[in-house]
Amino acid sequence: MKTSVIGFPRIGTLRELKFASEKYFKKEITADELLQTGKELRKIHWNTQKEAGIDFISSNDFSFYDILLDTAVLFGIVPKRYKELNLSELDTYLAMARGYQGASGDVKALAMKKWFNTNYHYIVPEVEDDTEIKLSGNKPFEQYNEAKSLGIETKPIVIGAYTLLKLCRFTGEKSSNDFVDALISAYQSYVKKAEETGISWIQFDEPALVRDTDSEDIALFNKIYSAFLSSKNSSKVLVQTYFGDVRDIYEDLIKLPFDGIGLDFIEGKETFSLVEKHGFPEDKLLFAGLVNGKNIWRNNYDKTLQTLTRLQKKGINCVLSTSCSLLHVPYTTKHETKLSANHLSYFAFAEEKLCELAELKALAENANYKNEASYQANVKLFAGERDCYSEDVHKRLSLVTESDYTRSPERRKRQELQKKEFGLPEFPTTTIGSFPQTREVKANRSAFRKGDITEAEYKEFNKKQIADCVKFQEDIDIDVLVHGEYERNDMVEYFGEALGGFLFTEKAWVQSYGTRCVKPPVIWGDVYRKKAITVEWSAYAQSLTKRIMKGMLTGPVTILNWSFPREDISIKESISQIALAIRDEVLDLEKNGIKIIQIDEAALREKLPLRKSDWQKEYLDFAIPAFRLTHSGVRPETQIHTHMCYSEFTDIIPAIDNMDADVITFEASRSDLQILTALKEHNFETEVGPGVYDIHSPRVPSVDEIVATLHTMLSKIDRDKLWVNPDCGLKTRGIPETEESLKNMVAAAKIIRNEA
Ligand code: GLN
Ligand code: ZN
Repeated sequence: MKTSVIGFPRIGTLRELKFASEKYFKKEITADELLQTGKELRKIHWNTQKEAGIDFISSNDFSFYDILLDTAVLFGIVPKRYKELNLSELDTYLAMARGYQGASGDVKALAMKKWFNTNYHYIVPEVEDDTEIKLSGNKPFEQYNEAKSLGIETKPIVIGAYTLLKLCRFTGEKSSNDFVDALISAYQSYVKKAEETGISWIQFDEPALVRDTDSEDIALFNKIYSAFLSSKNSSKVLVQTYFGDVRDIYEDLIKLPFDGIGLDFIEGKETFSLVEKHGFPEDKLLFAGLVNGKNIWRNNYDKTLQTLTRLQKKGINCVLSTSCSLLHVPYTTKHETKLSANHLSYFAFAEEKLCELAELKALAENANYKNEASYQANVKLFAGERDCYSEDVHKRLSLVTESDYTRSPERRKRQELQKKEFGLPEFPTTTIGSFPQTREVKANRSAFRKGDITEAEYKEFNKKQIADCVKFQEDIDIDVLVHGEYERNDMVEYFGEALGGFLFTEKAWVQSYGTRCVKPPVIWGDVYRKKAITVEWSAYAQSLTKRIMKGMLTGPVTILNWSFPREDISIKESISQIALAIRDEVLDLEKNGIKIIQIDEAALREKLPLRKSDWQKEYLDFAIPAFRLTHSGVRPETQIHTHMCYSEFTDIIPAIDNMDADVITFEASRSDLQILTALKEHNFETEVGPGVYDIHSPRVPSVDEIVATLHTMLSKIDRDKLWVNPDCGLKTRGIPETEESLKNMVAAAKIIRNEA
């Protein structure tokens, strides 16, 4: 039996790619130096996999920003406005990813969206009416050859034509159907070129197949692949799916002339029964995704081997694979010096998963595997008790009643009361919470962590930052202030550290988008609040100003979704535990004079199951009540805000209204404003602050631009419900652009206030 890895983390074991890219953005290194770093990283990543004994190693899973964007560029999908900048190939690419403001012009970045149900973000390619889709690049072949010259045979990956088509935006009159034929011949040229290059296996990632797929979609998929598979001869083609099962299209999929089909046995609840029911062709390889590419717990060998045996008994030729790209887990446990050996023994990051694949392969080929040490050690691990149980948490949860999920009075009444209480102007201005995290801010935190400065010194520095931040906001006349979140490394880690049940890593970074990485904590045991978390900072900030200071918390759904969850209890149970812990903090803030409390649910949308039929029962039915549980105990006058990154909640507007927040802010500038129409149609009751400018880019929006955006918003949103704020937190931005952008934002709000 062979082993396969769908994709490997590309950012480097210590985020080398991030640091090199950022240096390049700041013009501290040349393009060649950046390219060289990429090359060195690829070499390490391939060798690591080769040394671990992996048989099918991917190439072209490396990217300087995003693999979907790479695929789009490969097929010539580059909007005119970027070409017209006349930049180098690399800079044109980065302009699409990050926006460009400089001597050659001023263009925004392409939209960015969550990659299926992960916290990874892809860049949304734009197809214009006159876009000529054709094979236009060499990256997969170059990277294949690069690996080859190191003596490593790889399978280059690109995103498949179907998923690409589904994820592109069509900005002109034409629709996706108009591009199918061009796309087919572009992929045909790709296969042909792969064959000329002497590549033996190519991988097309088709995760879009795990979504709801109707007969039209199935026909489209059939059309695409029967067309271009018919002309292939020497290269073998693997179609790789992940993040779920392919129940709607399975029967068609196995009939197409693929040489390998990759299925996810971890998130694909029905994968096994599909194979059981409809069989799997003998002449193809089943790439069985049995090692979880999304979570960090060790694989349960016994379960995996049983599944493999059952598949093999059916005469299926299996390749043991990861369930998705290892991009979604950290690189290695080796850099973790603070976790106990006991804790670490439960974890497998990307490198350790390679070792699991190799061990499982050896065991699967051994009839007496039960005698092997690796098997026995694994069985022992799963048989043992983890210290993760808290009697108090279980008792408290059992006492929660229906009324704990309901805030009173109803929102309309609260809105009246709050308007009176706060006396804010029309279109109140605010920000999402964090202010730029400068080098000094980060250095202060890290000095404190290392014990280089005292707690008093640490706090004094932050208080000075807060004071400056408050003063700046007052000076430019923002209405609802924030303290700036200087004490936070990350919106989840910061909270997790004050909660029982969480474990933290030092270097377990996972790429979120481009050069941005996150370090999700691990939910190890039952969760409860150990001590007050934010109260001291918020109360201090409030003491500096007569304006309202907004308290800033992360909500339970986001804390859970941006952590590595337990696999031994349900998501529902974990979320409820976290909700009670956050409820304690909400009530504490209120008690300490904080009148507006924002509970961020940045990640609520992203974990919505990929299939509609699962939305309610498997998610919303407990995620929304969990949010209500956090704030149902506050006074009517206390205003609850929530914030969500990405406005793609058009389909679940009633559920969002049902969170019963008073105000919601969300990303809107980098996606079209469709959401506004939908909000209107649903009589959305929550007040809204759709972001008026994009904070993911250093570009400064002009006053006119923001006024125009606000006019569009006002055509859909009632005057008394509209807030004015940026898209998201400002922590990744520099100070100069932040100050300028916010000034322009306040000026724009004032202009529309003066309009009748
Ligand atoms: N309050 C957080 C911040 O401003 C929200 C971040 C987020 O939505 N991702 O940074
Ligand atoms: Zn956000």
